Amino acid sequence: MHELSLIASLFEILETQKEKEGFKKIIAVQLRCGLLSGVVPECLQTAFEIYKKDTLASEARLILEVVPVKFKCRFCGQIETAQDFPLICSQCQRSEVEILEGTELTLISLEVEG
Ligand SMILES: [Zn+2]
Repeated sequence: MHELSLIASLFEILETQKEKEGFKKIIAVQLRCGLLSGVVPECLQTAFEIYKKDTLASEARLILEVVPVKFKCRFCGQIETAQDFPLICSQCQRSEVEILEGTELTLISLEVEG
């Protein structure tokens, strides 16, 4: 499962943050997850629940903010949010588009204690 390795690297980041900032416990982790990041939000939640046991985040909640796909038409420059796939410009009906947002998986914030 792809999500499990993502969560594993997330926990490496969390451990590093803990050493840097000296907190004891994580209460909440907020992630931004693009619709095109290849991540299934439910799987990410499940992976998090499995992984967090016996860690600094054992009681933490995972908050996922799902980001829609935003793209720009290479032909007419129109920028829009995808409603459906495939990505097609609503202005000129072409599919040569550049994806601006929606592929990221980013740690936005941590709520910590101690
Ligand atoms: Zn266009």
